[in-house]
Amino acid sequence: MIRVVINGYGNLGRGVEQAVSKTEDMEVAVVLTRRDPAGVTTLGAPVAHLDDAADWADKADVCINCGGSATDLIEQTPAAAALFHTVDSFDTHARIPEHFAAVDAAAQAAGHLTLISAGWDPGLFSMLRVLGDAVLPDGETTTFWGPGVSQGHSDALRRIDGVLDAKQYTLPVASAVEQAKTGSAAGLTTREKHTRECYVVAAEGADRAAIEAEIKAMPYYFADYDTTVTFVTAEELAAGHSGIPHGGQVIRRGATSEGVHATIGFELALGSNPEFTGAVLVAVARAVVRMAERGEVGARTVFDVTLADLSPRSPEELRASFL
Ligand code: NAP
Repeated sequence: MIRVVINGYGNLGRGVEQAVSKTEDMEVAVVLTRRDPAGVTTLGAPVAHLDDAADWADKADVCINCGGSATDLIEQTPAAAALFHTVDSFDTHARIPEHFAAVDAAAQAAGHLTLISAGWDPGLFSMLRVLGDAVLPDGETTTFWGPGVSQGHSDALRRIDGVLDAKQYTLPVASAVEQAKTGSAAGLTTREKHTRECYVVAAEGADRAAIEAEIKAMPYYFADYDTTVTFVTAEELAAGHSGIPHGGQVIRRGATSEGVHATIGFELALGSNPEFTGAVLVAVARAVVRMAERGEVGARTVFDVTLADLSPRSPEELRASFL
């Protein structure tokens, strides 16, 4: 049995616990939290305080860091790498080189293996972008996100005066997806590739027109997109928009000879973003344990993982049934 530590118990921590329960070769050793463990209710795994993490160093094989990318993982992953082989889902793309270097130094010093930025994007989408580029060098890759909930954009809506609660969906524009599959999407603007739908609960007496105008003018978040704003009641938001779905697609279109084209498409439709991300992290954690058993040390990404190491099945079974 591969014994897993879940470091941080939010949406993703819960998703990892769910995902481990779907495996036959892995179990959760402990959930570590910065909060009072007595106040954290899991699906069944024991809970301990993060300050006692060292107690688990000999009782676990790998630690999955489930903190947020904005501020947690930058500190959480190097600290955990001192005690465990680790996996995280760091998704601030611009800061990945910096995070990789810090984690590599901590892991090298402790003799551990640590894999950063797993999940679906970064993660599975990154793998498909590399695959498409390698197989079809004369081509173009386009990534579309959605339909799905953007947590960051939903948070931005909730910070507006007069907004009590809100949910934001990102949607790919169907004609742009078709263009990426059959021609070139290189010339498309941000506005032409994705739209944004906002479901907003306004406070009683709030100026809805002003809220809508403020949303649509918000730089970076909404100003560059065709954005629709729908005001709903708190009950309607709870009934129709309580999930965290997401997904998207990576499309590689290239020429294999003059006038002959090939298209690679990889699509995800996720009922729950954190549950699926958790499922990827769990498979990657299995691979990290195997790679560490072979003596690998330092930082890695999904580009360094083999499919055989991700799978619970034997190489013989993979060759017989999956090749
Ligand atoms: P979250 O729910 O906000 O949880 C983040 C941390 O906040 C938890 O680890 C937990 O740490 C703490 N926390 C959670 N609930 C709390 C509460 N009620 N009170 C106080 N603290 C609480 O974030 P998330 O949705 O799990 O997402 C985590 C990260 O996953 C995101 O920031 C994102 O970067 C990443 N992600 C990556 C991908 C990908 O494809 N690569 C996809 C989805 C998400 P403690 O238990 O220690 O308090």
